[in-house]
Amino acid sequence: MENTTINFNTELTEEQISIRDTIREFAESKIRPVIMEFDESQEFPMEIMRQLGELGFLGILVPEEYGGAGLGYIEFATIIEEIGKVDPSISLSVAAHNGLGTNHICRFGNETQKKKYLPDLTSGKKIAAWGLTESVSGSDAGGLRTTAEKKGDHYVLNGSKTFTTHGTVGETLVIMAITDKSKGKKGISAFILEKGMEGLIVGKKENKLGMRASDTTQLTFENCKVPAENLIGEEGEGFIQAMKILEGGRISIAAVSVGLAQGALSASVKYVGERKQFGKHLSEFQAIQFKLADMSMNVEAARLLTLRAAVMKDKGQPNTKEAAMAKLFASEIAEKAANEAVQIFGGYGFIKDYPVEKFYRDVKLLTIGEGTSEIQRIVIARDLLKD
Ligand SMILES: Cc1cc2nc3c(=O)[nH]c(=O)nc-3n(C[C@H](O)[C@H](O)[C@H](O)COP(=O)(O)OP(=O)(O)OC[C@H]3O[C@@H](n4cnc5c(N)ncnc54)[C@H](O)[C@@H]3O)c2cc1C
Repeated sequence: MENTTINFNTELTEEQISIRDTIREFAESKIRPVIMEFDESQEFPMEIMRQLGELGFLGILVPEEYGGAGLGYIEFATIIEEIGKVDPSISLSVAAHNGLGTNHICRFGNETQKKKYLPDLTSGKKIAAWGLTESVSGSDAGGLRTTAEKKGDHYVLNGSKTFTTHGTVGETLVIMAITDKSKGKKGISAFILEKGMEGLIVGKKENKLGMRASDTTQLTFENCKVPAENLIGEEGEGFIQAMKILEGGRISIAAVSVGLAQGALSASVKYVGERKQFGKHLSEFQAIQFKLADMSMNVEAARLLTLRAAVMKDKGQPNTKEAAMAKLFASEIAEKAANEAVQIFGGYGFIKDYPVEKFYRDVKLLTIGEGTSEIQRIVIARDLLKD
């Protein structure tokens, strides 16, 4: 059992600072004023996504030749954190669009697929969705049941997906399905689907506790005809591809978590300087100061773990354990931070006029999506015990 040693600079470069400032300004001016509108209505913020596309934030990891920004995971995490500080649900959508569907095509698609699909995704003209989870297979993702049968020049998909982020609004979808049942996980393949394909049925949009601006929808495939050229890579490579995509996705969920925790902390610091009880500002009570100190320490530690996983990913180093640690730690401290923030706000923390009420609802997804906390612990322990 060895400790991972990696040298990395925790200071952002000038270019990274400029990217951070651009997205910070966008989140404050364009997202903050409309957060509750989208939260209440559960409407997907399409216009905001289009604007994010114009700024280059929907093709973060995609090379410039396909219309992307050609950046790495440090920039990805920085952008996601900044949006997460203001609105975790839009941050989640940006994370999923970039890190899952778009990234799957970018990493494993062939040249024709990349040229055909990526420019519309990076510009925000189309939104990406990524379907692995089914009603019978969540944590046990390899137990999925959707089938893809080859018939001449196309595959016929039958089955369904649950909890697909952007299942309703997504126009380009990456879907995992079984092409050879006898091979177990090695018989799972990945396909690019387009909205409007015969037999692709968009089902119920979920009514959620939090992350309500982010569209989460059931999908059904009824003899859905997908051209054979839409297979990503070779038959049987879909599960491994999906696991690699999730590894990067976990860094982005860690970044949403850091952003949410920082947002809860910043709101709390402001509030304790305004609110008075017993003739004193809340900031003067040591019990409150301790909460802020713990929140701040946890946010810093989570950001460092996230950055470390991002640096390793950018360097092409194995980072399964590090991404799992970042996602696990950051999402769990974010949960604590949101809880403490509501406590610090007292009754006002329970009211929708203050930002911490929404953080408290949004945060729960972060210990569940892209692998629950229990699954992250399994991944970390497996790595520790593998020798
Ligand atoms: C808002 C939202 C968006 C999502 N977006 C997407 C998406 O875009 N694409 C997609 O494919 N999926 C998506 N998901 C699905 C998500 O990844 C799953 O919900 C998650 O992986 C957990 O699966 P499950 O819900 O079936 O829970 P289950 O797997 O049924 O787990 C239930 C509980 O049992 C625990 N458990 C399960 N197995 C073990 C074990 N071996 N040891 C210990 N404990 C265990 C879990 O940790 C959990 O606490 C989304 C989910 C939500 C809620």
